[in-house]
Amino acid sequence: MVGGLEVGISGIADIMELALGHLDDPDEAIKQILLSELKARNYVPGSSEEEYVSALWVEYKKLRVQRREQLEMSYQGIPREEIPWYPVINPEKCTGCSSCADFCSQGVFKFDGKISHVVKPYACVVGKSSCRSFCPEKAISFPTIAELRARLKKLKEKHGLAN
Ligand code: SF4
Repeated sequence: MVGGLEVGISGIADIMELALGHLDDPDEAIKQILLSELKARNYVPGSSEEEYVSALWVEYKKLRVQRREQLEMSYQGIPREEIPWYPVINPEKCTGCSSCADFCSQGVFKFDGKISHVVKPYACVVGKSSCRSFCPEKAISFPTIAELRARLKKLKEKHGLAN
């Protein structure tokens, strides 16, 4: 609903899927993705942008909860060490602010006084990557959500688990 009216949006499924590839990005960044993908597919009057984004955001949040639940359920039964989901720090970019080590409650990072290191990769929660947004140097990377899903599908097949 936009302005009290039901409006049709072209490419809504693609817009949502693209935004769901950024599950743990900050909300404002996701809203920007929603808006730019919306405008790439639809005419959006400047005066209505905010209302469109609000409508998309409501839908996105519902889908985000579902997607997180799916990801959590989808790795049950697979040994965690087989799932290549953990942060990688580019030591050339890390300036040693220690934000990642301070933020992560799982103890994935260790700050050695100069830079941070990933010391417990498999303690990382599968599908979560919010630490990335805390790094001011963009030194932390993860696989994409699409890569994770493809890998989980293969691992479930390997372990004879239902997909
Ligand atoms: S948040 Fe980024 S720059 Fe700061 S210690 Fe971690 S990896 Fe290095």
